[in-house]
Amino acid sequence: MDIINDPKEIQELTSRLKCSGKIISLVPTMGYFHAGHLSLMKWARENSDIVFVSLFVNPTQFGPKEDYNSYPRDFERDTKMAQEVGVDYIFAPEKDVIYEPDHGTWVSVPKLAQYLCGKSRPGHFQGVCTIVLKLFNLVNPHLAIFGKKDYQQFVIIKKMVKDLNVPVKIIGRPIVREIDGLAMSSRNSYLTQDERKQAANIYLGLKKACEWTKNGVRDSETIISKLSECYMEHIPSGEIDYIEIVDPTDLTPVKTIDKEAILAVAIYLGKARLIDNILLEVK
Ligand code: AMP
Repeated sequence: MDIINDPKEIQELTSRLKCSGKIISLVPTMGYFHAGHLSLMKWARENSDIVFVSLFVNPTQFGPKEDYNSYPRDFERDTKMAQEVGVDYIFAPEKDVIYEPDHGTWVSVPKLAQYLCGKSRPGHFQGVCTIVLKLFNLVNPHLAIFGKKDYQQFVIIKKMVKDLNVPVKIIGRPIVREIDGLAMSSRNSYLTQDERKQAANIYLGLKKACEWTKNGVRDSETIISKLSECYMEHIPSGEIDYIEIVDPTDLTPVKTIDKEAILAVAIYLGKARLIDNILLEVK
């Protein structure tokens, strides 16, 4: 496995590889790997010839009061883990090389960014879209793999690629969870032991909501208020940012669940802001 820091070098390398007919995949990450990240890399390994993983804590997707400085980082551990799952190249650029002092172009998908996390994290998805498009232009992959844990991000990236005719196929992969159901996240490392125990109830609540839907509850407001009560009881240290039921494609709020919908939640717990989601199905 090779580590590349220089954007020009990566661009030259990938255009050579593409000319030789290799199928290239890219897994964009901010590092501090866990089994969720590794599942994306393994999928890429099995479905392409050359696997690139970008490792870049992107400053422009963090708000001024968010955790950019304290975001967990462990480059050595990450490179070992990536090597073990067969990654070919890690692209780990410096922030000042990616964003030169005169950087002045931004990509946004405002219609989709107005919902869910976009409300409490203004500018977040503009930062995400800008870095992801830059990475696509640098690596020029055939496939890019994203986790559905960040469901809104997945939908926004797909839309950006479609609207701007970016020649890459976006793959969405399932959420990988801890044994007790908590969605894996680099930010879980912020939790104290007690918070970590409470955090498992995020997914337990989502599963209950799935059951309510299957048992005939179709009114989103009813599900949201039942789930909110459940979280207040079982996650007493948490503060709900949002619980919403939205259309899986355009993220618009769903009032009555008469077809598949996404139930998405964000909860502040200690130093972490945790997100999760589940597909509600109507049988
Ligand atoms: P991050 O490093 O948090 O920016 O995440 C990099 C990629 O890994 C994104 O596409 C995430 O959606 C994905 N990811 C993060 N956590 C999980 C998880 N628990 N299961 C599946 N994919 C994940």
